[in-house]
Amino acid sequence: MIRTKHIPDKYEKEILQIKKISNEMINDCMQCGKCTAGCPAITEMDILPHQIMRHLQLGQFNKVIESKTIWSCASCFTCAARCPRGVDLASLMEAVRLISLRQKGNNRLKVQNIGQLMTDEKMPQQAVVSALRKYSK
Ligand code: SF4
Ligand code: SF4
Repeated sequence: MIRTKHIPDKYEKEILQIKKISNEMINDCMQCGKCTAGCPAITEMDILPHQIMRHLQLGQFNKVIESKTIWSCASCFTCAARCPRGVDLASLMEAVRLISLRQKGNNRLKVQNIGQLMTDEKMPQQAVVSALRKYSK
């Protein structure tokens, strides 16, 4: 008997979007748990990092985007450094956050305004870099 993995179609578009933004291979994760073992923010998370990976593999985008975890992630890249399969989970978390913000219409910086904002000396550098990262993907 041939076993096939059932991936729901419901969130196929969102999963593809995550892959496109992060440029990461979700299915490379082998669920070893090293990301969770090294994560400094797990006490603030409702879904552990390796569990986030499993939900993404199963197409359960709704569980990931509704989780507290994506906002608790400190983007420290410890998980990416520890992953034996070269999966950058921090970038996947960032991709889900971006999609969440876009779905809520919370893009505070419009792409057409970035050039002008860069001439403002009071603009925090981090805001400019974040905007460039957001719109360059
Ligand atoms: S360390 Fe990498 S392979 Fe292991 S569970 Fe985390 S993402 Fe998956
Ligand atoms: S990047 Fe996020 S998920 Fe990865 S180890 Fe740091 S806090 Fe944890």
